[in-house]
Amino acid sequence: MAVERTLSIIKPGAVAKNLIGKIITRFEEEGLRIIAARMVHLTPEQAGAFYEVHRERPFYAELVKYMTESPIITLVLEGENAIARNRQLMGATDPSKALPGTIRGDFAVSVTRNTVHGSDAPETAATEIAFFFSQADLISAR
Ligand code: UDP
Ligand code: MG
Repeated sequence: MAVERTLSIIKPGAVAKNLIGKIITRFEEEGLRIIAARMVHLTPEQAGAFYEVHRERPFYAELVKYMTESPIITLVLEGENAIARNRQLMGATDPSKALPGTIRGDFAVSVTRNTVHGSDAPETAATEIAFFFSQADLISAR
């Protein structure tokens, strides 16, 4: 196993419902380290670019609308096998399939309004981290 970095986003609905602390606690209790954090209110252009891979999907417009409705928290998590561990903490994309005890299982309201984003592979993690953060923003030497 390798030390990895992954992008996490606490999505608008969860920020609006004051769930930032509860969600960050899950990452910290799992032993993932937060090495960068910033609140952002995405423009439609930014949200559309972030989810470019889904542009042709039927849910794209709804997803972009959701991601721009209010601020998000962007985080970089670091740790051994961080990408898969974060995806485990998140639970399934569709909250009706997410297990209790996962972030989506406990907090998500629908497949679109599903609380968190997490990178799914090393290549996407690198691209997604660079979308929001410069190298100088990543503070892992502690
Ligand atoms: N999404 C949606 N409807 C769908 C599938 C996905 O609104 O039928 C949204 C949902 O917010 C999801 C995001 O699009 O988190 C990205 O989809 P992906 O399949 O990459 O899921 P994830 O990696 O977030 O679990
Ligand atoms: Mg995905």
